[in-house]
Order: sequence, then structure tokens, then C-alpha cells
Amino acid sequence: MMNIKLRKIKEWIDCEIQEDYLDEVVQGTCIDSRKIEKSNLFIPFKGENVDGHRFVSQTLENGAGASFWQKDIPNPPKGPIIFVEDTLVALQDLAKSYLRYVNPKVVAITGSNGKTTTKDMVECVLNKSFKVKKTQGNYNNEIGCPLTILDLDEDTEVSILEMGMSGFGEIRELTLLAEPDVAIVTNIGESHMQDLGSREGIAKAKFEITEGLKDDGLFIYDGDEPLLKSIVTSINNTKVSVGTNVDNNVIIQTNQSTSNGINFQLNNSNMVYHLSILGEHNVKNATYAIQVAKQFGVTEDIIQSTLDDLVLTDMRMQRIETEKYGLLINDAYNASPTSMKAAIDTLHNMESDDKILILADVLELGDMSKEMHQQVGYYLEGKDIQTLITYGEEAAHISNIASEYIQNHYHFDSKEKITDYLKEHLNGESVTLFKGSRGMSLETIINSLT
Ligand code: ATP
Ligand code: MG
Repeated sequence: MMNIKLRKIKEWIDCEIQEDYLDEVVQGTCIDSRKIEKSNLFIPFKGENVDGHRFVSQTLENGAGASFWQKDIPNPPKGPIIFVEDTLVALQDLAKSYLRYVNPKVVAITGSNGKTTTKDMVECVLNKSFKVKKTQGNYNNEIGCPLTILDLDEDTEVSILEMGMSGFGEIRELTLLAEPDVAIVTNIGESHMQDLGSREGIAKAKFEITEGLKDDGLFIYDGDEPLLKSIVTSINNTKVSVGTNVDNNVIIQTNQSTSNGINFQLNNSNMVYHLSILGEHNVKNATYAIQVAKQFGVTEDIIQSTLDDLVLTDMRMQRIETEKYGLLINDAYNASPTSMKAAIDTLHNMESDDKILILADVLELGDMSKEMHQQVGYYLEGKDIQTLITYGEEAAHISNIASEYIQNHYHFDSKEKITDYLKEHLNGESVTLFKGSRGMSLETIINSLT
């Protein structure tokens, strides 16, 4: 983590610090006064409900090394205070300077789905060869991203940054701060349709990631997405399109998908990669990671063996083997219509005669919600899935359509009822996949089963 004198901060950002404190040292940052650790730089925000400045004296008493203070707030306490115009801007400026100082290679990842997964995979394939640090959890916005940067150690060689957004201009801001060496757009989905108007809008907003890309930087993207294919011609960077369509630079051939994972090859090469996690979409995410590793000179053998060992952050196609209830697949971290369809394909391709799909609402779809849930219902036509269980008002639209296609279909109004149903019907050979928005917390069912 950042470990520097206030003198350095004075050099780097627009601020005022009393002379006496210039040789004080700060280590790491903290934005939550309850979590302050010794020598942290505390960063208060003037929030709508709570003003973090109220806690500045307390954090200093509790060991903070220094604190930002926004100049328009009256009555600053005495001590190692760094006066700035705006604490958020100061945080971002500090991160920008610190990143230039540490000077790692930067990999920036955005997309509607698969950011965190791809981030984990990139870390996995680079870890043996470099000192790598990635975004923790979902720290991917205008605050999380700079905090991630300030958490880098001085000897970090590669920084992997997840970049999220809910509107235009947000990814631009993050990428201009990070100036990545490699930028990735994992896919274009439908989330934030309300703010961005259309899928074209979403594609444009994600594509902003190229604006900060270094001139000699590499752009890797979902080449099966026509919207990206058409805008990518507007940049001069080296570009690699990844996908199953034959017109891509890197063409994925998946040759085996079993309950033990997936084997795949790229561009007809003899090298066979194995992924122990499920989902065709994860093969694409893994292929992005492979391209990053190749760009940084990692050998194919190392990439192959490290991918083999991959473990993902919980609740993303997480496999839980149980004796009594068979294989439970926890993909309940979050959902969009696109990722729900990807999950359906995964289950469809698995070998079992007793496959159960549990779907809950995809939230925040606005006016499009009913139609999009119905589309998921239509998508179930012809799928090799024996039982469909839906939960939630919106997910009921899936059932209404899919009742024609799936032999056993149920809509339950509580998770307890789903749990009871599963306890009664599942056996050691069953495969059950759970998918829904974060707010629906489907994992509570899994927890009651395990
Ligand atoms: P968030 O916006 O919540 O941070 P994220 O982009 O980080 O999401 P992940 O957490 O990696 O995405 O994955 C969320 C879900 O999206 C996964 O459970 C999976 O079902 C689906 N998913 C992952 N990768 C892809 C992909 N390339 N295309 C479509 N769906 C995907
Ligand atoms: Mg994420």
C-alpha cells in the first residue's frame, strides 16, 4: 500500500499542508472512520446524509496519519490536515500520481458482465510471473478505483483494475486516470439500459475505456458483438477480437463441456486449455486473460497450468458438490438477461437427467423488465432442462412463457417453499443451478441445503 511522506502528497496534488507536518508518513487509505488503521490517510466525503468531516478528529485520535479536509467546510481540527478543494478530486489526483510513481503495467477491464471473473482470471494467469494486484471485490467506481490504486505496493508490476459504470463519462474518467496498457471490454449486455438508452449506448459507454489506453496499448474485446466490431475501427491501437465467430482474430473452439469443466482450443492450435469452472462465457473470459498474459510474455505452458488451478470469487458459477442433493451451481452473485441466458446454456450442456434451473428476478430493468423476462422464457425452448423454478414477481413472466417448453415448472412465492421442494426432490445425481439478481439473495437456499 501507499507509504509516503506528506511532502510527496504536497508535490503531487493541489493542496495545503502546514510545514510542521510535511515529514509525517501515511500508510494506506481509509474512507470509513470505523475501520481506520494506524497511519492511514483518512478521506472524508461530504455525503448527502453524513459528512465524513465529522469524524476527522476522531480518526486522528485513533491513529490516522493524516486526513484530507475540504476547504469549504468550517472548523478544521488541528493536526496533520491536507486541505483540498474537493476530497473526491484530491483522492483521484493522488491515485493518478501514485500510479505514475509505482509505474506498473495496467490492465483495465469493463463490460456488462464478466468483469470480476475476467479480473480474477487475469490475476490467475499472471500471478506466477509478476507481482500482481487486482481490484478487491467490486471496488470498481470513481472511489473504489483510486482506492485500489493507492493500495498498490511500490514494487507492484501489474495492476488489474475493474471499471464499472452506470452512465456515460464514468469509464472515461477512470481510464484517463489509469492510462491502461491493456483494455478489455468483456461483453455488451442490457444493464443500465435506462440510463444509456439502448445497447448502442451501452457499447459506446464501455468503449470509452479506449480513450485512456496508451498509444502502444492493446485493446481486447468481444468480437461476437457487432456493436463493438463496428466502433472498434475508430481507434489506432492494436486490437484483438475474441469469440466463437470465424471472423475473429482469436477463435474459440470448445470441444468438451462436462461437469468437471471445459476443454478449449484457440485458432486450431494444438494447445488445449482446461477450465475447471463452468459456463461457455467463462471460456471467453479466460481467453481474454490468455491474451493479456501473452501480451506480457508469459509462456503458453505457464498460462495453461495456472488456468487449470483457477478458483473464482464465490457465487460465480461456483460448484458445490453434495452427497444428498447432487451438484449445486451457485451463480447467484448477480444476473442480467444476457448472463441468465449464458447460465441456461451451461446447464443445457451438462450431463444429467435431472437438471433443475432456479431463476429469480433480474432487477433494475425498468420499462423493459416484463419483455426481457419473457425473452428469457422463450430462450428456454428446446433446452435440455427438466425442471424450472421461478421466484419473484418479474421471474413469473419467465414461467408464463417457459411453461410450454419445460416439463416441470413451478413458481414459488417464497424461498422456504423452494428449499422444501428441493429437499424433497433432489438426489445425488441432480444438477441444480441458481441464478438471480443480487437483491434476490438466492444463495440463502443453497445455505439451507449445505
Ligand atoms: P458487476 O457489474 O456486478 O460487477 P461483473 O461484470 O463483475 O458484474 P461477474 O461478477 O464476473 O460480472 O459475473 C456476473 C455474472 O455474469 C456471472 O455470474 C455470469 O453468469 C455472467 N457472465 C460472466 N461473464 C460473462 C460473459 N462474458 N458474457 C455473458 N455473461 C457473463
Ligand atoms: Mg464485478
